[in-house]
Amino acid sequence: MRNNLSQTPLQAEILLCFIFFTIIFAGVLWVMQIVLPERIYRSNTIRELQQLADNLSSIYENGDVLEFKEALEFVSRDSYVCISVYKSNGRYVYSCDVMNYHCLLHGAHSMVREFSNELRKSSTGEICMTVYDQELQMDTVVIGKVLGSGDEVSGYLFMNAILKQSGTNTRAQKQLIIIASLILLIIGSIISFIVSRMLSVPIARITESAKRMAKGDYNTKFEGGSCLEVDELATALTYAEHEISKADMMQRDLIANVSHDLRTPLTMLKAYAEMIRDLSGDNPVKREAHLKIIIDETDRLAALVNDILDLSKLENGSQKLETQQIDVSAWLSDIIQRYKGVSEQMGYHISFTPDESCMVECDAAKMERVVCNLINNAINYTGEDKQVFVSQINTEDAVRIEVRDTGQGIEPDKIKKIFDKYYRSENHKREVVGTGLGLSIVKAILKLHNFSFGVHSKLGEGSVFWFELRKS
Ligand code: ADP
Repeated sequence: MRNNLSQTPLQAEILLCFIFFTIIFAGVLWVMQIVLPERIYRSNTIRELQQLADNLSSIYENGDVLEFKEALEFVSRDSYVCISVYKSNGRYVYSCDVMNYHCLLHGAHSMVREFSNELRKSSTGEICMTVYDQELQMDTVVIGKVLGSGDEVSGYLFMNAILKQSGTNTRAQKQLIIIASLILLIIGSIISFIVSRMLSVPIARITESAKRMAKGDYNTKFEGGSCLEVDELATALTYAEHEISKADMMQRDLIANVSHDLRTPLTMLKAYAEMIRDLSGDNPVKREAHLKIIIDETDRLAALVNDILDLSKLENGSQKLETQQIDVSAWLSDIIQRYKGVSEQMGYHISFTPDESCMVECDAAKMERVVCNLINNAINYTGEDKQVFVSQINTEDAVRIEVRDTGQGIEPDKIKKIFDKYYRSENHKREVVGTGLGLSIVKAILKLHNFSFGVHSKLGEGSVFWFELRKS
């Protein structure tokens, strides 16, 4: 069981999820709108400046001074870059300043000396530096390039440009993202509060009902909510409540029935044993009769206890199927043959109509119990003609076995209950020895095999109990 302290209420969980989502959303927006465009812009600007420096270097090497000067001015104006060119001896040659001495190549803040030193040290003949301009309070880029062909150095070219995205107010953008995130957070919190209440209120109601049900109140109502899952939960719990109340009632009936069914034979046993002791002990005929009753009642008691044990074993899954291939016609004929002696002695007639020989896979011992229980019932409940009919009907994928009697039949409202444990019709005759568990055992065995089964009955005409053995 989870510790209550580590659990968060549903409302808080939904709210936390939403806050988490808002933070992620704001983060993604920030990266997409601020960080990435700035980085892309910077690397594009630097690449463009390097390209321009290469072009200017080529023009310089051509030796056309006028063309070089024009190119310098054009690049400077067009790309808003400060440019300075020096001879190899450090003498200043050309310069274009578009920032009115605010760049790092001109005026009092000129850092040309430092850049020249860096360029001389560079093995590639090029430098590219990002420098923060204190005066402009902005990041700038400085490109330096050695001019000249081969190893011969004829001069140095320096370019300085501001690294700031033109036409974009990133500060305003940042503020907008913060405001948008806050609005999202407020609206989202309100929505998540409403949604979580819609979910948690019915769940809390259902929890209260479940607690009442646990205390034994099976009339508790489970009300759903506006959400499908909660509705399904309420329906499932209503069903569970119905089933639990049925099981509870059945348990009570069971105790009542078992105690009643045990008490009757036990009372009889005691009464007849006392009779033998006090009255019939010396009278062999009476003693025999009383002893017979004691033996019959002991059998009845033993049968009841065995049925209870068998059924509980079948139902709790401790009995596994031991399947084998059987020939249905031969198997049924054998069972019915064994009945013949006893039943014919008592005037009953069991007829068997087989179909073609057919193999099926099942637990033969358990299925024999099914057939015997059905035949026993048919004998017990058949009509005055004392006829019982067993038929084998082969279908495409199964072998159907029917056990028919000619008795009173079963009332439609009782037919659903006869497979229930301990159900016995109120009007069953005392001489019909039964425990009320026969059909429950039949049902448990057939369910274990996954075989279909059922009953048809017509009042005054009799009943047909059937089941189908699936062909292997
Ligand atoms: P039992 O026969 O020991 O009472 P069962 O579980 O075998 O218990 O049967 C439950 C009830 O079903 C019986 O009490 C009886 O009312 C009814 N029943 C079973 N078989 C038949 C039948 N062939 N004809 C009419 N009623 C039957």
